[in-house]
Amino acid sequence: MYDVHSKCADEFISHEEILETLAYADENKENIKLIDAIIEKAKKRKGLTHREASVLLACPIEEKNQEIYKLAEQIKKDFYGNRIVMFAPLYLSNYCINGCTYCPYHAKNKHIPRKQLSQEDIRREVIALQDMGHKRLALEAGEDPVRNTMEYYLDSIKTIYSIKHKNGAIRRVNINIAATTVDNYRLLKEAGIGTYILFQETYHKESYLQLHPTGPKHDYNYHTEAMDRAMEGGIDDVGLGVLFGLDKYRYEFAGLLMHAEHLEAAFGVGPHTISVPRLKHADDINPEEFDNGIDDEIFLKLIACIRIAVPYTGMIISTREGKNVRGRALHLGISQISGASRTSVGGYYEPEPEDESSEQFDVSDNRTLDEVVRWLMEMGYIPSFCTACYREGRTGDRFMALCKSGQIQNCCHPNALMTLKEYLMDYASPETKAIGDRLIEKEVFHVPNEKARAVVLENLRLIEQDNRRDFRF
Ligand code: SF4
Ligand code: SF4
Repeated sequence: MYDVHSKCADEFISHEEILETLAYADENKENIKLIDAIIEKAKKRKGLTHREASVLLACPIEEKNQEIYKLAEQIKKDFYGNRIVMFAPLYLSNYCINGCTYCPYHAKNKHIPRKQLSQEDIRREVIALQDMGHKRLALEAGEDPVRNTMEYYLDSIKTIYSIKHKNGAIRRVNINIAATTVDNYRLLKEAGIGTYILFQETYHKESYLQLHPTGPKHDYNYHTEAMDRAMEGGIDDVGLGVLFGLDKYRYEFAGLLMHAEHLEAAFGVGPHTISVPRLKHADDINPEEFDNGIDDEIFLKLIACIRIAVPYTGMIISTREGKNVRGRALHLGISQISGASRTSVGGYYEPEPEDESSEQFDVSDNRTLDEVVRWLMEMGYIPSFCTACYREGRTGDRFMALCKSGQIQNCCHPNALMTLKEYLMDYASPETKAIGDRLIEKEVFHVPNEKARAVVLENLRLIEQDNRRDFRF
């Protein structure tokens, strides 16, 4: 039976509760009185339950949908201002013993080149990433207990944090690896990871078992309960996500919000981030074979509904999506995007030869980081390379408390400006730098506190004139 506090996946993601939620949403999808009441509740910026949010997602009334989009945009602005946090993925290894039918790294794919970065490879890749301007990485790897050991991950994290090339530094390493034990999560925490990310792929257990026919990932409960173990191991920033296209999107949406509610109920901290990947073409994978694909309009509505249901949770979109969808998604709730990503094992230091591609999926946005940064600024966004919270120990409930009090804004905005300034000084093209400098000049006057503004202005001067780096609030 459904129990938000339970430690058992079948109870905190109860199939019956999701079916009842979907039936409730269907019954009420045109119930204007209820929809208005839910929108009013959402305006209080305290979030919505999975049932309430599911009604909004199901609602076909155009006028109400426009209200939902408008509110999502407003909540996005209130919580995240016009800042967009930048990151890049770094694939460490595509060795994998699982049989996920939607991923080219599945064990039965015999023709994809298998690679694992050595510590020396990692050094080269990280220097290339630093030379682009990245400060925040998401490590990715398949599951292979023989090759991709915990020791390998810990060594890799240590290597990454140790590299200081010119003015570059990776200041936050997030990691997306297979579900593991509490002890291993503790080791990752001690190694200084930021967020532990694990996509659920699908919350529909029956589909999950079919989509993961072989390998340890077949164990739905072990996978779904991973975030509980991560939190027990001391990791308090966890990132959820489903792969939209595997099962019915309304089912996934309800499951995703129930997972967030469970973490909040059981640990007092909801997910730090939610990612919204959509199934894409890849070697050995044809997305047409999966019949739950969603179009752009539904995808954007999902983003808007997640935004208003969990206002404190960062939302991430990757280069799986092209420029246009990314642009629209930013307005509706996305707070973090990747730029200049390589979804192959290696490829930053030296592009992979085409016939040796180890890509996990086709990238739809192939722009350089400089182009993405400029594009964001031209739309009025401030690209932020900030990693301050993690480095100041503002994680988990400390982060959420600051966020909920609204105080986080006083950190994010100055930090965004200072880290953008570093980027402009060290990595931007002259054109991007000119646009960025004008933006900073204007935005610095939006730092509300006079004293803080004076500090920011002085730090900006020190970054420019004294080559100083790494200021943060
Ligand atoms: S999704 Fe992850 S676990 Fe599954 S085959 Fe791909 S890399 Fe392996
Ligand atoms: S101050 Fe914290 S919440 Fe704000 S952008 Fe930086 S790391 Fe993120």
